[in-house]
Amino acid sequence: MKALSGPAALAVPEIERESDEVRLLARNPIGEQRVAEDIGRCWLDDFDLEPLLQPMHARGHRQAAGRKRHVAGRRQRGWRRHRELDEAQLLHGGEYSGAVFALTFDDGPGPSTAELLDVLRDFGVRATFFLLGRNVEEAPWCGDPRRARSIVERAGREGHVLGNHTYSHLRPDRWRELAADLRRGEAVLRSLRPSPIPFRLPYGIQRVEHGFPLGTIGEQMDPRVAVIASMGIAHQHWTSDFDDWTLGASDGPALAAKMTAHVEQCAAAGIDAVIDLHDSGTGSSFGYERPGTVAGVRLFLKEAQGRGWNSFTVP
Ligand SMILES: [Zn+2]
Repeated sequence: MKALSGPAALAVPEIERESDEVRLLARNPIGEQRVAEDIGRCWLDDFDLEPLLQPMHARGHRQAAGRKRHVAGRRQRGWRRHRELDEAQLLHGGEYSGAVFALTFDDGPGPSTAELLDVLRDFGVRATFFLLGRNVEEAPWCGDPRRARSIVERAGREGHVLGNHTYSHLRPDRWRELAADLRRGEAVLRSLRPSPIPFRLPYGIQRVEHGFPLGTIGEQMDPRVAVIASMGIAHQHWTSDFDDWTLGASDGPALAAKMTAHVEQCAAAGIDAVIDLHDSGTGSSFGYERPGTVAGVRLFLKEAQGRGWNSFTVP
């Protein structure tokens, strides 16, 4: 379930990249000299850099810099952050100092969901659950749709965000069926929470060999990106997943260590970690139980608590 990466995914329009470079260079003494040389060996103070320093990208940063995010305390819920952060700092990293993470769980509900909710409650952390409509409505993992629904209702009551992960988790190459399956999952979610309903693509964004034949969205780009664009729906991705659906309970410490290292790496890069885990599945070869995930989350949250890390909920 790896995210799309590589040159195709990271390509930035040439003009935007150059402008950013000028902006970054102008921020330090060596860079100032280089910029000054570039513009005719005059002092920066004598030169109005504003038009130079106002590319599309930077304009967004400037607006963001003046707009502090509201950040909630641990007991507050919803779409708000848990600390006061400046978005411009987040994007450039220089003065960013806090390790901040969000937990997200896909494919639920399942037999491990209730235990996971206990762990989250014990640590006072709220997460986002991207649910499969089938695992609520038909509940093949327990044969009791009423039980499935009551677990999801409990998650909602305890302040977790409930999102849509489609009804039946179709593969990326079945993109022609995505719109209907997405709406079907959304209908289940609508009976559980008011709109808006956040959405996450099954498998995230993938490379697909025979991509989207109807337009130009990039070579091997996941054709489902075009489908959700046509529906006006955003996909909530992650900064890392951990193949946790393959793990047993004894793998908990290794999973927690990987999660901790990832949050540290993100903080070093000046971005918040969005952790992708799984509290259930589609009943494939790994079944529906996720003991490794529950154990790993418990250990990770203990570690995060000890380090004073804060959490937030996506989106
Ligand atoms: Zn999934």
